[in-house]
This record gives sequence, structure tokens and C-alpha cells, in this order.
Amino acid sequence: MASGHAIPSYLNSEDLGPWASYLEQIDRVAPHLGSLSRWLETLKRPKRILVVDVPIELDNGAIAHFEGYRVQHNVSRGPGKGGVRYHQDVTLSEVMSLAAWMSIKNATVNVPYGGAKGGIRVDPRTLSRGELERMTRRYTSEINVIIGPNKDIPAPDVNTNEQVMAWMMDTYSMNTGQTATGVVTGKPITLGGSLGRRDATGRGVFVVGSQAAEKIGLDLKGARIAVQGFGNVGGIAARLFQEAGAKVIAVQDHTGTLYQPGGIDAHALLEHVQRTGGVKSFEGAEALDDHDQFWKIESDILIPAALEGQITERNAGDIRTRIVVEGANGPTTPKADDILRESGTLVVPDVVANAGGVTVSYFEWVQDFSSFFWSEEEINARLERIMRDAFASVWQVSQEKSVSMRTAAYIVACTRILQARELRGLYP
Ligand code: GLU
Repeated sequence: MASGHAIPSYLNSEDLGPWASYLEQIDRVAPHLGSLSRWLETLKRPKRILVVDVPIELDNGAIAHFEGYRVQHNVSRGPGKGGVRYHQDVTLSEVMSLAAWMSIKNATVNVPYGGAKGGIRVDPRTLSRGELERMTRRYTSEINVIIGPNKDIPAPDVNTNEQVMAWMMDTYSMNTGQTATGVVTGKPITLGGSLGRRDATGRGVFVVGSQAAEKIGLDLKGARIAVQGFGNVGGIAARLFQEAGAKVIAVQDHTGTLYQPGGIDAHALLEHVQRTGGVKSFEGAEALDDHDQFWKIESDILIPAALEGQITERNAGDIRTRIVVEGANGPTTPKADDILRESGTLVVPDVVANAGGVTVSYFEWVQDFSSFFWSEEEINARLERIMRDAFASVWQVSQEKSVSMRTAAYIVACTRILQARELRGLYP
């Protein structure tokens, strides 16, 4: 897929993972960038990669080593920004793609950041709270040299949360001898976190999903929603769609698949997931044993809100929905994008759809700098405005140029990034 690209020697070119999808997405935008395309190669290489060993003492006295990463993909428009993921399948090429998608996302919604991402290859469910804290603190100390409120600002991602951000903030602050709230976002409210941050990604998914529905004349009242992933993104988005009159007919996460054509109560399911850690054994829906079945369920809006690479050429042809709203980063491969486009399915790409999280992260960072905090109403109103504007400009470009919303978003974003690159010039 990525033949003809300069593949960095530190990646196994047989197994580029989601980096191959990202390169293909960049290739698709190239013809639309005019003279700026001269700079495009910049986006095919991360600016900086740090791989760190994270040793900790386990509760039983043994020493465990974990592999950690922080990738700064691009900082032309501002400091690096992006989450930290804890997952047993984290790889360098995955973190590279996630960092690159942050660059595109931040430029699409026009927040003044570059793109970065971090991760540790670990199943956090196997760690005690003390082990998790020690791993987080050691990881933070290891990447301390390249992060900072004006350099690179981590945030939560899959399996990291407010508590993990509090430990990161404290570790960085102790290492630098000052309380630096602005070094991470997604913190607890009492430590300089922002109201509305927890729900922000799901809320953004809902806002742009509603915009997309309006464009194709889909009434949200009674609209059928299918969601993969029922955490902070999928769960909140499902709840908001339900509150707008839609019904959540199918839900899948790493513990199971649920189906209920009459509608699953999102509030009750959120409570169940909070209590048990997954959707499995929820009583208000039928459990499906064949997990591939999820993709064949007819819906009006499908929200992949789990991991990347879920909608591929293998299952895209089975999907019968009107709109795909990407709550996850990179859930759809380029081949699957083509299949969905041919079948007339509107895909609202991740770099627009899930940008609500980083948008409120930006608000948090601004509030931390000024030590002046805004009301939740103000935050939600500003979030909604940014999401609506981003959706509208990407929609307009997609109509004018007859391209997918993904390519349109890449046109908007890459133009902004490469203009910044060109104006700054190469140093030295
Ligand atoms: N991890 C989230 C994302 O993928 C949020 C990043 C941030 O707030 O910096 O967009």
C-alpha cells in the first residue's frame, strides 16, 4: 500500500500498521495542495520520536519493564498536543499515526497546536493502582525532557484518565520545581482541569453527527444508532443521541456485543459499564456471540469509537448505515473509505468528529495559563461553535472539490500546516 514512500528504517516495512493508512490519506490530498505540495514530505516523517524503557517494581518485588513512546509528529503551528495511550497492542507505528492524526485534527479545527501522541505497551488492567502510579511517574520522568506547557502537552487517551493526568502533572512539576498545571490537559477539576472536558469528545461527536444528519435529511427522532466502544467517547455520544430522540440499537466493546432493536437505555448501560468495566451481561439487550455480526446490523448512524483499523475492506461491504461518525482515531482504512463512498455512506472523519476532546483541552490550557476559569455553559457553547464551523468548512470543501469529507479535512488542515511551515522556513 505504501510502496513508493520513503519508509523510515526504524519501521518494519512489511508491517506499517495504521501508518500505511495515514500515508495513503496524505497521498490523496497531494493533488489538491498546489505549490504547497513541495512541503508535503514533511508530513510523512514525524519530527521527533522518543522511545523509553519504563522499569517499575511490582507489588511482589519483581522488576517489570515496559516500552514507552512519545512522538511529536509536527510542531509547525504550535507545541505538540495529543494523548497518552496504555494498551497491550501499542506499537511505535501506531503512536506515529496517532500523532500524525493529531496534527491534522488540530489544524482542521484550527487550535494552535502541532500533533503528538504517547503510549505505553501495557495492559493496565493487570496492574495494581500503586503499580499504575509508579509506571506513569517513571514514564513521565523519562519523557520529561521533551514535554512542557509550551513544548508538548499530553492528555488522556485509551485507558488513561484524570488520575493518570494528575500523576503526570505532579511528576513534571516535581522534576521542574514548580507547579505546572498547563503541562497536561484532562486533569481533575481541582488541579486546573476544565469543566466539560470529560464529555467533550462525545459531545463533539454528537454535534457533528447532528450536522451530518441535517445535511442528508435524517431526522434524529427515532434514528437508529450503533456504537462500537462505550467509554468516554462512544458512551457519552450514545447518551446525547438518545437524549435527542434517537435510539441506540447496537453496542459493542471489548467485552461483548449487544443488540436491541427497540433501543438500549444508554444511561443504564453507562452505569453498568462504570460498575462492571464493560457492556457484557447487561440485561436490557440481547447479547450476540458472533461479534462480526455487529457490522451487519442496519442502522442510520454508526459510531466506531474504539480503536483504529476496525472498518476494513473485509467488513465495509456489509455495513448498512447512512452516516459513519468516527469517534475513534483511524477506525476506517482507505480501502474501506472507498467502499463506503461507493455505497453512498457519508463518513464524518475522525479529525473532525472526535476533535471535541482536544478542543476543550485547548480551553483547559488557556484557562490554566490565565488562572481564570470559565463556566460549563460557556465551554459547551464555544465547543459547539468550533465543531460546527469545522464541520461547515470541511463540508463546503468536500462539495466544491467533489472529494470525501476526509480528503476535504486534509486539504484544510495540510494547507494550514504547510503554510505555517513555509512561512517559518527551514532552520538553520
Ligand atoms: N486523546 C484525545 C484525542 O485523540 C485528546 C487529545 C488531547 O486532548 O490532547 O484527540
